Amino acid sequence: MPVRGRIVRIAGPLVVAEGMTGAQMYEMVKVGEDRLIGEITRIVGDKAFIQVYESTTGLRPGEPVEGTGAPLSVELGPGIIGNIYDGVQRPLPLIAEEVAKKDPRRKIFIERGVEVPPIPLDKKWHFQPGFNGHRPSIGDKVGPGDVLGIVEETSLITHKIMVPPGVRGTLKWLAPEGDYTVTDVIAEIEGNDGKKYSVAMRQRWPVRVPRPFVRKLEPNTPLITGMRIIDTMFPMAKGGTGAIPGGFGTGKTVTLHSLAQWSDARVVVYIGCGERGNEMTEVLERFPKYKDPWTGKPLMERTILIANTSNMPVAAREASIYVGITLAEYYRDMGYDVLLVADSTSRWAEALREIAGRLEEMPAEEGYPSYLASRLAEFYERAGRVVALGSPERLGSVTVVGAVSPPGGDFTEPVTSHTKRFIRVFWALDTKLAYSRHYPAINWIMSYSAYVETVAEWWHKNVDPRWKEYRDEAMRILLREDELQDIVRLVGTESLDERDKLVLETARMLKEGFLKQNAFDPIDAFTTPQKQFKLLQMFIDFYKKASELVSHGITVAQIRQALGRLYVEMIKAKFEIPNEELEKIEELRRRVLKTLEELEVRSG
Ligand code: ADP
Repeated sequence: MPVRGRIVRIAGPLVVAEGMTGAQMYEMVKVGEDRLIGEITRIVGDKAFIQVYESTTGLRPGEPVEGTGAPLSVELGPGIIGNIYDGVQRPLPLIAEEVAKKDPRRKIFIERGVEVPPIPLDKKWHFQPGFNGHRPSIGDKVGPGDVLGIVEETSLITHKIMVPPGVRGTLKWLAPEGDYTVTDVIAEIEGNDGKKYSVAMRQRWPVRVPRPFVRKLEPNTPLITGMRIIDTMFPMAKGGTGAIPGGFGTGKTVTLHSLAQWSDARVVVYIGCGERGNEMTEVLERFPKYKDPWTGKPLMERTILIANTSNMPVAAREASIYVGITLAEYYRDMGYDVLLVADSTSRWAEALREIAGRLEEMPAEEGYPSYLASRLAEFYERAGRVVALGSPERLGSVTVVGAVSPPGGDFTEPVTSHTKRFIRVFWALDTKLAYSRHYPAINWIMSYSAYVETVAEWWHKNVDPRWKEYRDEAMRILLREDELQDIVRLVGTESLDERDKLVLETARMLKEGFLKQNAFDPIDAFTTPQKQFKLLQMFIDFYKKASELVSHGITVAQIRQALGRLYVEMIKAKFEIPNEELEKIEELRRRVLKTLEELEVRSG
């Protein structure tokens, strides 16, 4: 019997109901005559405090509240990819249709209390038993995560139909190849517990509970993004965690879109946390038009969007993070590398703050609840590269990147400072760089990546054994330039010796010709690891050779003069030489070195 209570108090998204004895923490409930979706976040005596995921306008004390007996959960199965969901996994386009059916004049996204299944129930999917030559037979012992068969969910994603967590036993029946809906039974399992389990392609999973796996592995493969300052200087690893903090207009959105579009993750979950109302609309309009650069197919064939516009209740925004990460884990379990992008976690933290305020909890720093840090930790901890449950063996990963929008660009505020404790990559967006139109405005002094060492082996094996050496040399030049700028500000360039002048010159070349990258230029937007290395090598080999010349008394001005047009060619190589034409960069590098050698000979 479901718990039934009555509303006694309504405060924005928070509702208090009495007569709720027997209800569970985090149980999902239906609130009011309209049966709005809510979740119990606190129980005191027979009173339940409920966070409501829909607008509570018009709700009155005395209306009923009914328990569902289950925690807030997502539905998992074919039909998730390509969807646009709200914060509690209701499909936005479908809701819009349902609403339009009732009243065609209304063009709002979400109507309260409309129940639409997260994955289509009537659609038939072509199920093929087995996977990769591995087909379970009747009488086999099967357990959680074992792949029973597959469905081509989109042209980019093969959906593995897995034995749900908690089910272990003997396979009694497996459906033959054919077309099935997500609720049709595709396998019968006689459980070790004596129960009979009818397995369908649809499963449910509570969003606040991480999905199980066998074990975590060290993230040691880079997530290739095609952004040079990321891949070469501050790399992300598949299964890693990162934050990208920045004030308004510093390029968070452009960078996150580039990550979603270009990175070599197989599945992307993009959570938009109501940054600004129109911004989410922008995502909703743009993503369906993007193409997957690796295959030319629509990007939505590997993307799930979760949209919280600013007019949606804050509680839904709070839930959206958990919904998103649970969907990401589900595709990880199939053996995919998943990238989850959250824009922005600051809005999520504000939702926590607002809800805590309504619950009259004791505020900590800047009004955020004291559990802000532990919530952030729990979220980032769900990232990782894992051995998935079940056979055949699969490795999968969830990479998590959270944008942070600190008010006034102040990185000491609570969300940024707590986030820093739980992430391993920090891409600090710099207002000054953005003002001077240096994009991506990732500041190379404040940013860091703990994965440089771990991904080095990949670069050494797949690109060049000198990658780390070159990358570190570039970093040293940039750091030295930063120190020199302080001196230059005080006493001007003239007082510097030629060695330091060369550092300034090389740093300028690196900034212009390597770090700056135009996300909207057809050639520059994405640079392969091979091209990144070739460009870097060109600038660093220039620096090494020029250093020799300088130590023999040749001035930087003479070097500049000898280079002539070559200087511009080096800077423009990123725009003018496509990824496929590496030999052209190599040729340019040789011409640069030859020019310097000739200058050396001439100067005796
Ligand atoms: P935020 O989301 O931090 O407010 P945006 O991502 O909207 O900032 O970026 C603001 C503007 O900066 C963009 O409209 C674009 O003109 C410019 N910009 C940011 N990053 C790049 C980039 N990599 N290449 C070119 N322009 C960029």
